[in-house]
This record gives sequence, C-alpha cells and structure tokens, in this order.
Amino acid sequence: RRTPMIAGNWKMNLDHLQAVALVQKLHWALKDARHEPGSVEVALFPPFTDLRTVQTLLDADKIPFALGAQDLSAHESGAYTGEVSGAFLARLDCRYVIIGHSERRAYHDETDEVVAAKVQAALRHSLVPVICVGETAEDLQTHGASAVPVGQLQAALAGVASGAEVVVAYEPVWAIGSGQAATPDQAQEVCATLRDVVAAAIGADAAARTRVLYGGSVKSGNIAAFMREPDVDGALVGGASLVADEFAAIIRYQK
Ligand code: 13P
Repeated sequence: RRTPMIAGNWKMNLDHLQAVALVQKLHWALKDARHEPGSVEVALFPPFTDLRTVQTLLDADKIPFALGAQDLSAHESGAYTGEVSGAFLARLDCRYVIIGHSERRAYHDETDEVVAAKVQAALRHSLVPVICVGETAEDLQTHGASAVPVGQLQAALAGVASGAEVVVAYEPVWAIGSGQAATPDQAQEVCATLRDVVAAAIGADAAARTRVLYGGSVKSGNIAAFMREPDVDGALVGGASLVADEFAAIIRYQK
C-alpha cells in the first residue's frame, strides 16, 4: 500500500517571510477533523533561501509536512559557484529533492545525463529524488504521450541500485501552468507505463512501493479524479500550492 503524496512545488515564488505565512495558514487549514495526518504525505518544495526558515518552523510547531528542495548540484563540494550540494540539503532535514523538472530541462539545458548525475548525488545523501519526466505538445503529436517520459525515466534510473526509494512525477509540459490538465485516463496510462519502467530498472518490489505522481494544472476541482486512478499516487502541484486554502483542499481530496 502506497501512501499518497501531495507535493507543493513553489518554484521561484515566496520569500522566507511569505513562506512562514503560507506554512502557518496551511497548517491551520488542515487542523480539522477532515484531515487525518498520515493518510496523505504532504511535501513542500520551497526555494533554497526559504529552506532553513521552513525547517525551523516545521520543527518548532511539530508540523507534519516533509521538506524538499527544487534542485541540487550533481557535485559534492568545491568550486561550483551558485550550486547547492546534497549534503547541505540533508543537513536541513530535506527528505526529498526534485530533479529534472521541465523548467530546468528547458531553461538550464539539463540533459538526461545531468539528471542522472543529480539522481546519484541525491541518493549518496539519502535524499529521495522526485524524478520529473514529461512530453512537450510537439512530442505528444509526433511520438504519443509515453515515449519521451519513458526515455527520460530510463536514463534517470540508469545506475540506480535495485530497491532504491524514488518518486516519479509525470508532468506533461503542455499541462504545466496552462490550466489544461491531462485527463485522468491519460495520466493513468502514462503513470502505469512509468511504473513498468521503474520495475525494469530497480525491481518489481521497488516499483510496487514507488509513488508515481501526476503534475500539471492540478486544482482542488480535479484532484479527486486523478486520485481514483490506480497508478496515480499523488500530485506535484505548482500554482495551486501557493494558496493555503486551495492547497489544503487538494490535500483533503475525497476519493
Ligand atoms: P502547475 O500546477 O502550476 O501547472 O505546475 C505544475 C508543476 O510544474 C509542478 O512541478
């Protein structure tokens, strides 16, 4: 049985003061009988500059959200100006790190090789990589939905030991920030195929445990339909994770 995961990728939004306000509001919004902590894992992915603040707040107020970063360096330490190592993230109690988001692939030229090296860097520090894959509108036209995400995931998992813990996020590029989410059927089909890729790479047991998330224009109004699909184990939410009541409603989706 996989614990569903609802993850908020804040992208480049909210400074550390705004982060405190959002985390507190979200915590309050969830403090009612309709949310059973433990039934859904909530994970927050703030900008690097907010991580220390959010870590301190979660710890001080015993708020049961997991923390993650939006990226990490493939390198361990040294002369890499501007980069942040897996070791630093682990020291901040990050449990997760997003790797290979389409915005990094598109705007920072992250190749499948870079993504694979970052997955290795995360695992060296016992961080769980949240590996993002997804096709553009053009890929969808020419290759169908699965081909590009399958290739990206195979490359990301090359060299990962069997049984490793990873999270996979299927984020069709055309659905991100567009208001046009994939249909639950489309998401199910690709997520099931991605689970087969995980099985082939790191074993059937690991694949049965791996959370495969859908991301791209997830809102409180469409989350329940995604969560009814057997191979969709949660969501990676962008814009809607920045509004406390809306993100709380997504977390409290009713099956
Ligand atoms: P939106 O939810 O804003 O479409 O973003 C999805 C995303 O890219 C999450 O990583």
